[in-house]
Amino acid sequence: MTSEAIEVLIVGGGQAGIAMSEHLTERGIRHVVLERERVAERWRSERWDSLVANGPAWHDRFPGMEIPGVAPDAFASKEQVADYLAAYADRIGAPIRTGVEVNSVRKREGANGFHVETNAGAYDARYVVAATGPFQLPSIPPIIPEAAGVTQLHSSAYRNPSQLPEGNVLVVGAGSSGVQIADELQRSGRQVYLAVGPHDRPPRSYRGRDFCWWLGVLGLWELNAPPAGAEHVTIAVSGAHGGRTVDFRELAAGGITLVGRANAYENGKVRFGADLAKNVEEGDANLFALLDAADAYVERNGIDLPEEPEARRLLPAPASMTNPLAELDLAEAGVSSIVWATGFRADYGWLQVDALDEHGRPRHQRGVSTEPGVYFLGLPWQSRRGSSFIWGVWHDAKYIADQISIQRGYLVNEPAPDSQPYASLRAGAARPSAVDADAVPGSAAPAPVTAQTTGTHA
Ligand SMILES: Cc1cc2nc3c(=O)[nH]c(=O)nc-3n(C[C@H](O)[C@H](O)[C@H](O)COP(=O)(O)OP(=O)(O)OC[C@H]3O[C@@H](n4cnc5c(N)ncnc54)[C@H](O)[C@@H]3O)c2cc1C
Repeated sequence: MTSEAIEVLIVGGGQAGIAMSEHLTERGIRHVVLERERVAERWRSERWDSLVANGPAWHDRFPGMEIPGVAPDAFASKEQVADYLAAYADRIGAPIRTGVEVNSVRKREGANGFHVETNAGAYDARYVVAATGPFQLPSIPPIIPEAAGVTQLHSSAYRNPSQLPEGNVLVVGAGSSGVQIADELQRSGRQVYLAVGPHDRPPRSYRGRDFCWWLGVLGLWELNAPPAGAEHVTIAVSGAHGGRTVDFRELAAGGITLVGRANAYENGKVRFGADLAKNVEEGDANLFALLDAADAYVERNGIDLPEEPEARRLLPAPASMTNPLAELDLAEAGVSSIVWATGFRADYGWLQVDALDEHGRPRHQRGVSTEPGVYFLGLPWQSRRGSSFIWGVWHDAKYIADQISIQRGYLVNEPAPDSQPYASLRAGAARPSAVDADAVPGSAAPAPVTAQTTGTHA
């Protein structure tokens, strides 16, 4: 069977794949994006119905295009985000082939590049970018056996309250997903128990500016590694109901029973850690630290923003915090469902090259993997805190495109037999030196490749 030769093959047609395509097109680098479902599929089929973006529309987007029909300070619905990404891909002529699943990527024996097998033919690619998302497979800790007799589902499979059987609900995980799902279930008339772990809890807005703005001006999106001891810091933030600060004391006042981390199960009872008060108080401290930093910024820069002392007011600790439940008998409490908002794990089974550690996680520096020619994009903390978010991935994609350009520059000096499948594609690599053409005044970068020239837009 013949293989199609392509210079860069991008796996995944979400925001990362689209951003990668834009930057490669700008540099005239021929590429294709393979997406197993539809463009931005996760936003269409792996999010609950009422989800809106966590950041306002002015922030959670690519730099080159606003989100149509959404006011800058409003929060786009998940469908509006998906439509936006699809429209963006069309606008830049991204050469995306949908319905194509990559089954394997292997190093070509005795030749440059990689052999890629898909459900719709094979490719030989000089470079491969894995853009399959920061959140790939649902992760549910193995605490409660299936035989426990309750419906258990992951937040990525939750759609709306009517999907769950009658009865009360335990929601495990108090990041953005857990708090929003718990709130929605409580409002629908169920008794909800919410297991709260460590989290950051920024104000939705402060002194008239959204927290996305504050994280930006304070340089906090640019943190290049999570704080010590926390590989992934959950941010409890929500754009629901027009955007309100997530406040666990307020959720409790509204009827939700807060519990500590769910950590064991025996004889129909779930046991919770004794960490609830500590987790809530540390979340409050995180909020106050951001308010302090914002106040200091205003002071230092002489900015005229209205003071907001009420942002520091805390409701009294609810009974569930002062006298926390150590365990919950699910049957006695009428709990018929458990929603696990416990995050995701990686799945790179298809990437059969030397770019993963013993746990199957990417080995890389800013997305440049340990296997030369293979790149990752969209990883949490790939280069900074903002890496997995819509606007952040765009900047990481630019960096990866630069790295690929630099590598192409070296090809000028590489003797390659005509039998190399992408030898004809190497014309675009002709550079005076192994330097990105962008940095060389007057250097002739090849013309951008459009969807028409690759004939691949599906
Ligand atoms: C509930 C939730 C809410 C979020 N809200 C926001 C928000 O408001 N703002 C924000 O900036 N970020 C948000 N994020 C974070 C991030 O923006 C999303 O996770 C986003 O989907 C990541 O985009 P991506 O392109 O990196 O990956 P994905 O969207 O996961 O795209 C990867 C694509 O790869 C495809 N794929 C996977 N394997 C293969 C294969 N072998 N072959 C071919 N195709 C394959 C998948 O079908 C998928 O379409 C949210 C995340 C979650 C989970």
